[in-house]
Amino acid sequence: MNDYFKTYPDAKGNYGQYGGSFIPPNLQAEMEKITDAYYSISKSHEFISELRNIRKHFQGRPTPVYFAKRLSDEYGGRIYLKREDLNHTGAHKLNHCMGEALLAKYLGKKKLIAETGAGQHGVALATAAAYFGLECEIHMGEVDIKKEHPNVVRMKILGAKVVPVSRGLKTLKEAVDSAFEAYMADPVNSIYCIGSVVGPHPFPMMVREFQRVVGIEAKEQFFEMTGEHPDSVLACVGGGSNAMGIFSAYIEDENVRLYGVEPMGTGTKTGQHAATITYGKPGLIHGFKCYLLQDDQGQPSPVYSIASGLDYPGVGPEHSMLHDMGRVTYTSVSDEEAVDAFFQLSRKEGIIPALESAHAVAFALKLARQEPRRSILVNLSGRGDKDIDFVVEKYGARYSI
Ligand SMILES: *Cc1c(COP(=O)(O)O)cnc(C)c1O
Repeated sequence: MNDYFKTYPDAKGNYGQYGGSFIPPNLQAEMEKITDAYYSISKSHEFISELRNIRKHFQGRPTPVYFAKRLSDEYGGRIYLKREDLNHTGAHKLNHCMGEALLAKYLGKKKLIAETGAGQHGVALATAAAYFGLECEIHMGEVDIKKEHPNVVRMKILGAKVVPVSRGLKTLKEAVDSAFEAYMADPVNSIYCIGSVVGPHPFPMMVREFQRVVGIEAKEQFFEMTGEHPDSVLACVGGGSNAMGIFSAYIEDENVRLYGVEPMGTGTKTGQHAATITYGKPGLIHGFKCYLLQDDQGQPSPVYSIASGLDYPGVGPEHSMLHDMGRVTYTSVSDEEAVDAFFQLSRKEGIIPALESAHAVAFALKLARQEPRRSILVNLSGRGDKDIDFVVEKYGARYSI
């Protein structure tokens, strides 16, 4: 796997047979402009030093790597956590939002446009917009607006405009369509900022590059603490941005095993899950090719996870390729296992994780039991404040609350 980052993606944004750009010609022209700008601007000394400054003084980076001693004592293994929950706004998403917004500033754009499902990406982007003094327009399905009230309020406090989307199922897919239309109506003054390593080229590449800081920091920190590399590196996979962030540092080290953890929801029998690589087949969604949970007509299936940040029927094209290559192992854990890990980490370490991140923790606990002498590095993608009311309402009794 030498020269991995020079090889993937190719100039057209292909990761093997995945990725690419399947969009109307007028949108394609805009994507090519963004690609050119990304290559010329983001490699400049000025851009790199401004982003470094932001990460240090605004985001609070580097985030620590933490040895979870009580958890390791209980389960075996040596479990380490990369604390993205301590990144400003409480998750890894700000890493790419600040990068995308800085690029927008260099391009002279006035407005950031995006969709949001649960509101996490919307809040991170609204934060970036406030920092740079840019306008921000977040498209959100009416169903999600009702469900995710606190995040809607946060976006408004941060000065963003929340645009309700009332067509179709009134959730994430329609919000993406609506946000793309708004962007196409004014591509000169606005820029679209995607929320994960998905969408047409150059987004999967750009978002990966902005997330690489997680892996670069973690690799150095882990080595400083232990004098070696971890045996296994784990991350949850929705679209796959936090996973690409940490995997990227180890992808060329073939001895480090990489695990992507997908949401099994309530299980295969019910069909209520979002385990895209485990059960999907190659297909098209939102302008790119990837593993996709789909019906007979190739339409994206409805998906479900207790962690709303993981319920996407597609997955990043790079993950699709890494699965086929066998470089990353994709596995899954259920809602119940994730909730159990949520309480284990809270009560044994004093860290309340996001339900998304709890999926990676749950698999770490299983692996630790199987391999008690090995080390595991988990990307703890975010904190769980957003999830506490829901968890207590649904599972409180079982955990004596
Ligand atoms: C959005 C989100 C995820 C899922 O997104 P990826 O692109 O797969 O990383 C995971 N964890 C948290 C805390 C999130 O907010």
